[in-house]
Amino acid sequence: TIAIVWLRQDLRLADNPALYQACRTCEQVIPVFIDDPLPSSISQLGAASRVWLHHSLQALDTHLQTLGNRLILRKGAALPVLQQLIASTGATHVYWNRVYDPASLARDKHIKETLKQTCEVHSFNASLLNEPWEVLKADGTPYKVFTPFWKAMLKHGIQQLPLPMPERMVAPANLPDSLPVDALGLLPTIRWDTDMMIHWEVGEAAAMQKLLAFLPQGADYKEARNLPAQTGTARLSPHLHFGEISPRQAVYHTEHYLQTHPEADSGLRHFVQEIGWREFSYHLLYHFPHTQERALDARFDVFPWADDYAAVLSRWQQGQTGFPIIDAGMRELWQTGWMHNRVRMIVASLLTKNLLVPWQVGEQWFRDTLVDADLASNVFGWQWTAGCGADAAPYFRIFNPILQSQKFDPEGEYIRRWVPELHARDNKQVHLPRELGDGLRDYPLPVVDLKTSRERALTLFKRI
Ligand code: FAD
Repeated sequence: TIAIVWLRQDLRLADNPALYQACRTCEQVIPVFIDDPLPSSISQLGAASRVWLHHSLQALDTHLQTLGNRLILRKGAALPVLQQLIASTGATHVYWNRVYDPASLARDKHIKETLKQTCEVHSFNASLLNEPWEVLKADGTPYKVFTPFWKAMLKHGIQQLPLPMPERMVAPANLPDSLPVDALGLLPTIRWDTDMMIHWEVGEAAAMQKLLAFLPQGADYKEARNLPAQTGTARLSPHLHFGEISPRQAVYHTEHYLQTHPEADSGLRHFVQEIGWREFSYHLLYHFPHTQERALDARFDVFPWADDYAAVLSRWQQGQTGFPIIDAGMRELWQTGWMHNRVRMIVASLLTKNLLVPWQVGEQWFRDTLVDADLASNVFGWQWTAGCGADAAPYFRIFNPILQSQKFDPEGEYIRRWVPELHARDNKQVHLPRELGDGLRDYPLPVVDLKTSRERALTLFKRI
């Protein structure tokens, strides 16, 4: 028997239920990745994520080749590609791990129903601690508040053992042709990506190394996670997004570490809880699929967002707002494909509240520039900050970028790293916007007045 394993956001060999079951059940295995033009699939990926995917596919293929197999790359609508592969290889089984965006769920349901007529088809959960439909309120409805969701999730159980890497993965003698990874056209023509990728190592081995290197710092996570100048978080988000590591592996290794390092308990429980926020965002997207475009809070459907925001948006995108912490964050994003969570909240608050730019516009920019761009977490993060999502920051909570900067980057280390124009400023001045006539020519004046824009936002929010 021959199995096709259709890989998507599970680009790893360990703890990969589809691959594991395929190798246990069938004599030969064909791992396949398809560049499917479906909305929400790779043709819709942002530029930074496409670069990551290129390297991740390469890493996976190299890994498979050490086991005597290889990754088959194809382009086209998934169903006909799979049907053609089944016909040409005589495959009897098809396995995949689920992806949870609404368009993929609908596509996969149809593919399963169709292929089942001729093959055995099995799908699994490889990217969440629990399925989004497994943890519900007592009355069967989904959660909209994180704390009770997470309590219920912990009660339900999150600590299944990760699966080992398959021991053998025999390829059929007539392994089908594969496109070279370059043929997917994931890398940009103007090669800005090489500078960005200096900051990253891609692939399953790098993801596991990063987790294991993070755990010894875990005792300080609760405090360090708020300080953007430090490497106080795991920086696992792109690896989790592409499935180079599973949340189950992250939790399992954390628990294992805690057995011998109980002093890290409070810090690392908090880390696991952050993975819980990822679960929560998937839970919300699954139960409220319209939130990928519209606010969960329907009152925001009539919110009077600005419509002449092109100039301020461009300054925000380029890190030229004149607010040092915001500009540091936006430039970190542009140069590395990642931004610290605290700063994501501050820049999103300025855009949606002080500048009244619709949250969808910010979400789209993040989608294009983040290496960890993830529909569920991104939509959730934007709606949370804009005050229109689940468990959202109340509308009157408008981050003041100067106070946030003084609190979370007290020495200005993060700001100076990304905004070299402010290098010579002292620790007090480094947080403050430029003032008219201060002689500092190469840093912009503030894009907006914080006080009046805050009042304007509060008035508009009160109106809806
Ligand atoms: P750690 O602090 O080490 O956390 C471990 C893991 O938990 C993360 O890798 C991530 O998978 C998960 N996690 C942590 N915080 C959150 C959170 N608030 N929501 C959901 N999951 C979380 N995260 C993405 O993965 N993709 C996105 O596109 C994304 N967009 C965001 C947009 C906005 C406006 C905001 C405020 C947050 C967004 N986040 C997003 C959440 C969060 O900022 C990142 O997950 C986190 O910064 C990743 O860094 P880390 O791996 O070092 O996190």
